[in-house]
Amino acid sequence: VDISHFVTRPPVVTIMGHVDHGKTSLLDKIRSSKVASGEAGGITQHISAYTIEQSGQKITFVDTPGHAAFSAMRARGADVTDIVIIVVAADDGVMPQTEEVISHAKASGCPIIVAVNKMDKETANMDMVKAQMAEREMTPVDWGGDVEFIGVSAHTGMGIDDLLENILLQAEILELKADPKAKVKAAVVEASLEKGRGPVATVIVQNGILRLGDNIVCDTTYGRVKAITNDLGKPVKELGLSETGTVLGLNEVPAAGAIMVGQDSDKEARDIATKRAEHARAKELSKSTKVSLEEMSGLIAEGKIKQLPVIIKTDVAGSLEAIKGSLEKIQNDEVKVKVVHAGVGGITESDLVLASASEGCIILGFNVRPTGSVKNKAKADGVTINTYSIIYDLIDDVKDALSGMMS
Ligand code: GDP
Ligand code: MG
Repeated sequence: VDISHFVTRPPVVTIMGHVDHGKTSLLDKIRSSKVASGEAGGITQHISAYTIEQSGQKITFVDTPGHAAFSAMRARGADVTDIVIIVVAADDGVMPQTEEVISHAKASGCPIIVAVNKMDKETANMDMVKAQMAEREMTPVDWGGDVEFIGVSAHTGMGIDDLLENILLQAEILELKADPKAKVKAAVVEASLEKGRGPVATVIVQNGILRLGDNIVCDTTYGRVKAITNDLGKPVKELGLSETGTVLGLNEVPAAGAIMVGQDSDKEARDIATKRAEHARAKELSKSTKVSLEEMSGLIAEGKIKQLPVIIKTDVAGSLEAIKGSLEKIQNDEVKVKVVHAGVGGITESDLVLASASEGCIILGFNVRPTGSVKNKAKADGVTINTYSIIYDLIDDVKDALSGMMS
């Protein structure tokens, strides 16, 4: 690989948090205070991704429709995010969805920055938030941990510069590189069918440059780029590294998380997409992707995997702690249990998505069940859910799997 063309690319940042803690407000405030003043007034509609400039450096922000969507994209192979911002309202503190977000963010392996929002409120309590987060292994830097907490207000704009400077610092550590001369590769963050325009995909360029006229294949869809608009809605001829905008010209609507790749000819693009569509149909028919605890046990016995990722859901906090504690203790020298997420409550779609995003991950329920629709979706997605009503049965199953004795 010739690396001589590699350049530093801007970081891509995803904002997640409990509902109403201010994700959208924060994104809007950052955008309106950081785009060139002439254009600021023109921004009316909320879009799913945009790029700003801070201290002469670019940062791209993505607003996911939720943390489940974030992990769903990762499950599809679209690791667009470099840095995760977890928003916590300074008056509310950690809420159930904040806990889910922490698990999703940790599973992604991205560096995390905590933005403590609504600091303008009289009831704001930074120390409370820090304490609650520290309890969840998110210890603030000033408490001896490694997570930056930045107090912000999406209403007054306070702390936003601080937040952006912190993002740039993290980005520097990550040394994000890409090759503008490479074949274009872009991730779809959102896509829809628009009247009179056809399939419209909002993308973030991950490598190369996306240009008008490019032949592209995007999962099972393909086409030729016939129009591009940038994040301000203006028609442009190209999108550069980490830049975002919408693309017209695909034959069908791709899924969020699909990767768009440039091809040498339109025939090549069509052939690849067609083959993939056939393959996807065949796979759909066979549905053999499901990994059971028995199969994981077999893989462990063969030494092919070193850890068993699990998600634990229980009816009450007491049993959650007991199960989590026991599972983390049963490890021999080579293999161990990795608790991807542990929470109280029924098995939800968010759990499924998180499981799909971590290879071989199994959901263990104690005295809780998936609802009908979640059960069906698990089947379709190939995610194993094992439910138990006796703690020892659950622990014994996992023990057996770890020692490779189930197969
Ligand atoms: P989201 O659900 O996380 O996207 O939250 P929104 O951005 O929709 O905000 C939820 C509510 O909190 C709205 O009523 C906002 O006006 C309010 N809000 C958001 N940020 C702030 C802030 O910094 N200070 C105060 N006082 N209110 C805020
Ligand atoms: Mg919102």
